[in-house]
Amino acid sequence: MTLDFSKNNGLIPTIIQDNQSQQVLMLGYMNEEAFQKTQEEKIVTFFSRSKNRLWTKGETSGNFLKVVSIKEDCDQDALLIKVLPNGPTCHNGTTSCFDNEPQFSFLNELEKVIEERISNPSSDSYVASLFQKGLNKIAQKVGEEAVELVIEAKDDNADLFLNEAADLLFHYLVLLKAKGFNLENVEMILKDRMKNK
Ligand code: AMP
Ligand code: ZN
Ligand code: ZN
Ligand code: ZN
Repeated sequence: MTLDFSKNNGLIPTIIQDNQSQQVLMLGYMNEEAFQKTQEEKIVTFFSRSKNRLWTKGETSGNFLKVVSIKEDCDQDALLIKVLPNGPTCHNGTTSCFDNEPQFSFLNELEKVIEERISNPSSDSYVASLFQKGLNKIAQKVGEEAVELVIEAKDDNADLFLNEAADLLFHYLVLLKAKGFNLENVEMILKDRMKNK
């Protein structure tokens, strides 16, 4: 990868994005040395303009940014680095330096919790107990919750309706997982249909 370090006093603006959630985490700058170090170590190192030296993100906090992929922009003067963050990225303790919760981030989290309950079943986990009863039972639960939602749709109790909607979505996620899929697979199909319109 050949970058154009000529524009910004030798500094390349570098966007850091969470590889899992796709959330933008922070912006930093890299000089040539920082870029090389980042490529070699697969841990993000910036050039800090305030410290006026190389700065490995996480050097004191331990919240390192593990590199997953590095891409340059169209004219090679900016970078997009996807990372696996080891803890919150902002020094204020928040996940991101921007106030930018990605869409569906909670559902992604919920999917991970479901996955975790399935792979490490504990006796008091509802998901684990569902899973133990098998795929038929899980699929049946989706049917039941769908019927309950239909029933509540006829009424005008917003609270009951929304709770049944939540039940359905939850069991739908469990069924997807039980079949080895997740929301992303469904999203891809919906996006594809949009393109064909
Ligand atoms: P760290 O690199 O996480 O060990 O943090 C070391 C120092 O770098 C902190 O005390 C802050 O001054 C600064 N810092 C850490 N994270 C950020 C960030 N996301 N944006 C700007 N400055 C940061
Ligand atoms: Zn550019
Ligand atoms: Zn910050
Ligand atoms: Zn229900």
